[in-house]
Amino acid sequence: MPKSAKAKAEQAVAPPPPEPLAVPVADSHTHLDMQDAGVEEALAKAAAAGVTRLVQIGCDVERARWAATVAAEHDAIWAAVALHPNEAPRIEAASGPAGLDAALDEIAELAALPQVRALGETGLDYFRTGPEGAAAQQRSFRRHIALAKELDKALIIHDRDAHEDVLRLLREEGAPRRTVFHCFSGDAAMADACAAAGYFMSFAGNVTFASAQPLRDALAAAPPELLLVETDAPFLTPVPFRGRPNAPYLIPVTLRAMAAVKGMSEDELALHIAANTERVFG
Ligand SMILES: [Zn+2]
Ligand SMILES: [Zn+2]
Repeated sequence: MPKSAKAKAEQAVAPPPPEPLAVPVADSHTHLDMQDAGVEEALAKAAAAGVTRLVQIGCDVERARWAATVAAEHDAIWAAVALHPNEAPRIEAASGPAGLDAALDEIAELAALPQVRALGETGLDYFRTGPEGAAAQQRSFRRHIALAKELDKALIIHDRDAHEDVLRLLREEGAPRRTVFHCFSGDAAMADACAAAGYFMSFAGNVTFASAQPLRDALAAAPPELLLVETDAPFLTPVPFRGRPNAPYLIPVTLRAMAAVKGMSEDELALHIAANTERVFG
């Protein structure tokens, strides 16, 4: 087959399983409902790689319900539920402020379930949603912050091109006891600001990208006591598999790259991450 077709075919193939981790960790942010493998297969492949737990993120009411169901059926899965920052403005545009409130009420009901360990992913996304959706995003984010505090659950934040407003809203509302920046995307100064506030920082496969030196500088600055690791699968597959489908079993690739940045052994970093995950979601 011609070279380009061969390269294209390889892009679609799941990367080979990495060497398993000796110290098991969790994938703190994944979207099983967007991945090709079934739940059982994803869990088995992850466990074989030393990834013994995952946090399934539900991004709208229907997917949040699915996350809660699948977490009730599997000990290795914890659920997080929310209206994604890009979802909230869509709901409000389609069914008005009352429609958004009704959807948030459904999220609140699911969030009270014991297998649901976090509100998320919520936050602000000024990259995909334009200024016309900012008010709905912010209102939804504030409600999720309040719910996390009321239920004493973790808060998982999606922050895209919105660092200042995310930090401001957290300050204004008062952040929940356990607040996580998922797919951390700030620089070293942002990592310092998060560390000062006690926010957890979860790094994804993009920390391995050649262009991501500012992100590696942020990781270098972040205290090990506040680090988590995630895939955000099926997105953000780590180097050298960038562009191919991501899944929880690839956590070791990202964790090893993180350990190199921190100047730590892989086991030492994994011990920190395992303990942090327990503190946040356990
Ligand atoms: Zn996100
Ligand atoms: Zn996500």
